[in-house]
Amino acid sequence: MIETIYIEKEIEDNSKTIQILRKFKNARKISIDRYGEIFNRKNQNFRVQKINPSLILARKHKGFVLPTPVGFGIGDQKNFYFSHMYNCLYDCSYCFLQGMYSSANYLIFVNFDDFKKEIKQVMERNMGENISFFSGYDCDSVAMESVTNFINDFIPTFRGHENALIELRTKSVQTRIFEKLEPISNCVIAYSLMPEELAVKLDKKAPSVSSRISAMKKLSAMGWKIGLRFDPLIYSNNWKIKYQSLFKEIYSEIKEESIHSVSLGPLRFPKAYFNKIFGYHRGEEVFSQMDINSANVVSYDKALEYEMNTFCKNDLLKYCNENKVFHCYS
Ligand code: SF4
Repeated sequence: MIETIYIEKEIEDNSKTIQILRKFKNARKISIDRYGEIFNRKNQNFRVQKINPSLILARKHKGFVLPTPVGFGIGDQKNFYFSHMYNCLYDCSYCFLQGMYSSANYLIFVNFDDFKKEIKQVMERNMGENISFFSGYDCDSVAMESVTNFINDFIPTFRGHENALIELRTKSVQTRIFEKLEPISNCVIAYSLMPEELAVKLDKKAPSVSSRISAMKKLSAMGWKIGLRFDPLIYSNNWKIKYQSLFKEIYSEIKEESIHSVSLGPLRFPKAYFNKIFGYHRGEEVFSQMDINSANVVSYDKALEYEMNTFCKNDLLKYCNENKVFHCYS
């Protein structure tokens, strides 16, 4: 339940602002000049704010579409990301947003048209090349759809542009929005997954893995392309058996031809982010194998990281072709 909404004065009359505010008639509304006053305020505690986040409606001024970090992609020549929103409904223990932001408030940039305009410009500049746009970098792409109407607004921008792929990264099991839309072959609904036993402990507030698999099954039957994202791969006792049975379960439910791509990524954080996250979750087992003393990037031991990637990839190759499997290292 959103109790407080901060609204930048300059977007008070924006149609998206009005649309969102209609959903929160009883919330306290506070006018602000710039979102940074609230979102970037010093001495905030992400964990405390996560208990009852406020909503911030703002305008983004520049940098609507950005190149992804090196190593992030699913096979296309060029990769971009855009973030209409910062922060997430869910509360995964390993979420890097806790390290990146000091605020857990939901920040929505309501000027969707500026994002779409820049996406179209990037498409035009890269005509003839295969490019990917990733939308779930700083949020979950689908989880807040009932508030943002993001998917409904953005899918038409990609319709008819076969060389420009959009990935919607999510753990949400909402499928109703996709039922209302005609599937497009250049949209991948990409599910973040890990063995259920781990997700129960780590993917707090997120739907169960079995319900994510059911959602994928439903969406693939409607004709939507599915992405499988085992990113991050999480170490635990008997991790090999757990991942093997997860892969088996997924491929027994979903036809291989519906799966656009599979990606694997190690658990790793920039040192500064890790220090904050580790401070919040000191007792969490998920961090027990990490080399907390490393200088720049905190990750598992390189040999373990390599073993996990290699083992999982080889097991996945029982079910899918190698050209669908990617490693993401960003
Ligand atoms: S679903 Fe993704 S963005 Fe949301 S809390 Fe979990 S890791 Fe973070």
